[in-house]
Amino acid sequence: MSKKLYIETVGCQMNVLDSELVVGSLRRAGYVLTKDTDQADVILFNTCSVRQHAEDKIYSQLGRLRHHKREHPDAIIGVLGCMAQKDQELVRRRAPQVDIVCGTGQLARLPELISKVRETGRPQLALSFDRNEASRLEVERSFESYDPLRDPSMRPSRFQAYVRIMIGCDKFCTYCIVPQVRGPEQSRHPEPIAAEVRQLAGEGCKEITLLGQTVNSYKYNVGDGRRFQLSDLLARIHDTPGIERIKFITNFPRDMSDDLLDAVRDLPKVSPYLHVPVQSGCNEVLKRMKRLYTVEYYREMLARCRDRIPGVSISSDFIVGFSGESEQSFQHSCDLVSEAGFKNSYIFKYSPRPGTKGHELYPDDISEMTKKRRNNDLLVIQNQVSLKDHLARIGNIVEVLVEGPSKTHMKIKKSEIRNSKSEMVSDFGVDDSTWTGGDGLPQLTGRTATDHIVVFEGNLRLVGQIVQIKVKEATAFTLFGEVLTSERVHSGENAESPILGLIPPVEINGSTRISLPVV
Ligand code: SF4
Repeated sequence: MSKKLYIETVGCQMNVLDSELVVGSLRRAGYVLTKDTDQADVILFNTCSVRQHAEDKIYSQLGRLRHHKREHPDAIIGVLGCMAQKDQELVRRRAPQVDIVCGTGQLARLPELISKVRETGRPQLALSFDRNEASRLEVERSFESYDPLRDPSMRPSRFQAYVRIMIGCDKFCTYCIVPQVRGPEQSRHPEPIAAEVRQLAGEGCKEITLLGQTVNSYKYNVGDGRRFQLSDLLARIHDTPGIERIKFITNFPRDMSDDLLDAVRDLPKVSPYLHVPVQSGCNEVLKRMKRLYTVEYYREMLARCRDRIPGVSISSDFIVGFSGESEQSFQHSCDLVSEAGFKNSYIFKYSPRPGTKGHELYPDDISEMTKKRRNNDLLVIQNQVSLKDHLARIGNIVEVLVEGPSKTHMKIKKSEIRNSKSEMVSDFGVDDSTWTGGDGLPQLTGRTATDHIVVFEGNLRLVGQIVQIKVKEATAFTLFGEVLTSERVHSGENAESPILGLIPPVEINGSTRISLPVV
């Protein structure tokens, strides 16, 4: 009988991709997925350390499993990823029921670690070196990129995929734990990346998102004095047959070079969308964060992006309540959001992380209440800006890659299904949907190349296709529209049948899937 694997993922797109690869390797070792920890032979948590809240969530899950481990002593419990690398033995001191602690750079060893626990009954630790523990080369090697052959059935969506082009970070922003838990910045050779993109395209993938902690810092010396940058890499993979959209996240403001902006402008498959976190609108705060730029520099960079890429949409990240952020400093962030025209912003309350310079040097001197208030105030301003951006799009015709049923639609179907005891769609291929629509057209959702979310009614056959939608209404978060014509949008030489009615339904393991939400 096959062994069962339960896996839970928190954190960023890197973690989502890591989990996809872990699931792929364990599936090859004979595991099938379950959503029920009671059924699982192996229970894994792929963790995040960027905020305290994410860690607390995992420790509380582990606490719940203490009793489970007593009842099921053979079940293997593993903590993977950033929290494992950061807390190391502390994980087992706080949760002795954990059998495996495996850092971000050691995930390829998981099948071996599971076997060792079974053979020896002893806990296993697999961690990379700390940044100061060994030479740079040794630390780099201990974080080697984990990108085994991909298993198409493990992707949350057949037509979308993440491709890691670099790992780690050398920027050392004072609030951030990433350089510790993901190691030194290392770019992958462009040829394995191009091969991975070709493989994904061959499996039906249409949209790839290149991932890197600071993706626009990508650089690889290919020999003969030639250095590949992100603009070169985009050009290298652009003509991959079958790939229709290329995105990349996340960008560091200082590395937004003109050659990259020109590549985004000139390569039609590259989405005119840039996520460029600014974190604060106040120079003093940026300095304490060690972000290496000023607000003036950031504003000039925004102007350059808009100048060089007509129609580009830009989103950002903000941290509120960082040490020493006065009301005046916060007001500077409000001013920036009001003026910058971001499509949207992700706003976070500062959470001091042990192991960072920020934690060591600066007090966490802004109260939780003030952080909450600033978070809400900034969101209100951003929502007004987003609404304005969205309202200006009413009447436009946009090209949308259809991702699946909308959240609202899924909620309705879930409650119908609970009543009818049918099965439902889930992530990572668990309990594949047998639902085929029902009466009337379902509400679907997808994204434009500029990353705007669009909701509309349409046949499920459209999932995975790029269609034209006329925007009719808008809120601060969503555009609502109608499928304009039955014509499918061509965006490459390998575009399929132009008439939607002739396109066979998108089948993924016999069912339609939704995208995995990124937390
Ligand atoms: S650039 Fe700064 S915030 Fe981003 S991963 Fe690196 S250290 Fe963290």
